[in-house]
Formats: sequence, C-alpha cells, structure tokens
Amino acid sequence: MSLPSGEIFVPRFRGECLLSRGTEVRDLLRLREETVLYVQPCTSERGKLMADIELRSGDTECIDSKTLCALLEIHRRRFSELKCSRNLGVAKLMWKGREISIFKNGKIKIQRALNREEIIRVANSVARLIWGAELCEVCGQPALNCASGACGKCTQEERVSIELDELPNAELLQQSQINLQRARKAAPEESERLLNMARYQALFFAIEAPRKEDAVPGLVLLAEALQSGVPPKR
Ligand SMILES: [Zn+2]
Ligand SMILES: [Zn+2]
Repeated sequence: MSLPSGEIFVPRFRGECLLSRGTEVRDLLRLREETVLYVQPCTSERGKLMADIELRSGDTECIDSKTLCALLEIHRRRFSELKCSRNLGVAKLMWKGREISIFKNGKIKIQRALNREEIIRVANSVARLIWGAELCEVCGQPALNCASGACGKCTQEERVSIELDELPNAELLQQSQINLQRARKAAPEESERLLNMARYQALFFAIEAPRKEDAVPGLVLLAEALQSGVPPKR
C-alpha cells in the first residue's frame, strides 16, 4: 500500500476471493438462516442466551489456527480473558462481557448474550476479527495471504484508490500507516512497538468498519504490518 496521504491504494481482489465475498453473518443469514444460528437459553446464566453460529456449512477446517491466534493476540487488550490453542484450533475469549469460543471448523459459540439482535452484532464483530484467518476458497490460504498478495492467486493487476475522507474511522487507518512508516526507520525495539500499534489499529479499523468493502483496506494494511516484523531470532 502506498501513501500519498488522503488516499490509499489497495489491490482489486477476484470476485470469488474471501476478501471480496466477505464473512458477514448477516449475509450468511440471508442465504441459509436455519443452519447458521441456533439460539437457546444460557445454562450458566439465567435469562441470557447462547448461540452457535456456522461461518461455513460442513465440518471441514476453514480457519487457520496459527493466524487465528495471531489475530486474537493483536486484539488482546480488548479481551478480559484469552486462550488460544494453535494445536487444537480452538480459542476462548471474553469480549464485552460475552463468552466466545471459536473453532477451526468455522463454528462460533456465543454465551451470555442479551437477545438475538445482540448475538448477530457480536457474531459479526467476531467474524470480522477472524476474517484474515479464514481460508479463502480460491487459494486455500488464510485471507491475510490474499490481502498481502502472498497467495499469488487472488489479486488482479489493477489497484483501486480509496479516498480516506470517505471511510468511517479513517484516522485509525491513517495512524496505522504512519506507525508502519515510522517503524521502518526506527531502531529494532522501537520498531516492534510501532508495528504492534500499526497492527492493532489496522485490525481495529477492519472490525469497526460498517461495510465489508470498507474493512478490506484494514486487512491489507494489517498484512503489510505483519510482514514488516523483525525476523524472529533463531
Ligand atoms: Zn482469496
Ligand atoms: Zn488468496
């Protein structure tokens, strides 16, 4: 992504790429309501609801565990609890008072929700949070690899210019870009701190964006900030 401030350039993704299709629970509900959402009373807390949501039908693995844990780690400061197992492909977290479990087969369990509307809202935020870890059906890789272009299958030649003024919460994206640029010139320790900030801001932007189309630049920038890391010591 290049920077003349005021606009950003992102690749155009193929129509079937997960970044174009999105992972909105509201869209899924329109397609197959009864198989997506099961709501029942919460066993652990009276008067509250729990729900199981399926991002994909079937029981095949559709979330990359390593990327899932990395994404949750980036957003950790927003969770009151977080456990993520790369080996099992399961994550549990407490987010805004709701207990959330995420499984690598694309099932999400939400507990202690107040009502159905809230379940869908929370599910949408979770889906955005883990979007980059979901496997794209075009290339079979986590969508973050589509966003970075690393998969080599999902981007088209052409790049799209996006006016930052037209994006809600554009400051988050701008701050992320600035931190990413500063990180490239900073000493290693400072650079890592700036990169972590850039990653957090880019992911937060993607989660908060009202429309999936607006969220994509957040994932593109996040992918760039993840690649820019200091190589791990051997
Ligand atoms: Zn893709
Ligand atoms: Zn791809």
